[in-house]
Amino acid sequence: MYKSVFTRDRFAPFARRNSNERGGTLAIEIIRLGYIFETLSQEDLKSNPLHLGYPVNNIVIRANGFDANRPTRMLMAHYDVANVNSENANDNTAGLLIILEYLTHRNFPTSHNVVAVFTDCEERGALGAHILGQAIQEGKFGRIEFVLNLDVVARGPTVVTENVPSALGQHLAKLGVSRIIIPYNDSYPLRARNIDSVVISSGHTGGDFTPWLTLHTPQDTYDSLDIPSMDRVYQLTRAVMNA
Ligand SMILES: [Zn+2]
Repeated sequence: MYKSVFTRDRFAPFARRNSNERGGTLAIEIIRLGYIFETLSQEDLKSNPLHLGYPVNNIVIRANGFDANRPTRMLMAHYDVANVNSENANDNTAGLLIILEYLTHRNFPTSHNVVAVFTDCEERGALGAHILGQAIQEGKFGRIEFVLNLDVVARGPTVVTENVPSALGQHLAKLGVSRIIIPYNDSYPLRARNIDSVVISSGHTGGDFTPWLTLHTPQDTYDSLDIPSMDRVYQLTRAVMNA
């Protein structure tokens, strides 16, 4: 019998909630794990504040302290949703739960700062990632080695990443991840600022987008997920973050 830590019970508190409610659920989970978090909004930017016309609240955890002499590995997933009438299980509760599970084990590389970022407003044009990118450029997180972005990680037979120039993307390819064209996501505004970031997702190679057709619909349910694919992404995340 196949067993995963990613049970229906883990997903349930996030289902059919709006973005603010999901941020609250996330904050409770983070506190329950014994972490403190920071928020990162427009107001926290030092220079050239972005006038996005919408409140944006990223949630940030410096998981193993912060030493400016160490490079930083960042793990990112968006917590906001496009449709409150959906469980939004694959987009992007699954990504959040993988990061929370990674944080649970407190097994971090001593050579690197590990920073987890839960972004807001991905579904409104990756506004949270725009703010994160500017904060990184302002030096708020030291020297960034990479930002690994988890989005749509729990349905489809293959782990895929973006076919773009990226050292992280090349590393993932060596680990067997297929590189395909993936639509706009939180990694785009980071790469636009020369920050190395790619998304990993579960899907198909060869242009079959069937696993992604239920995103943002009431059909994006826990019961329709492919949990072994989520477990694969979780194992890959641990391997990349802790290498
Ligand atoms: Zn998404």
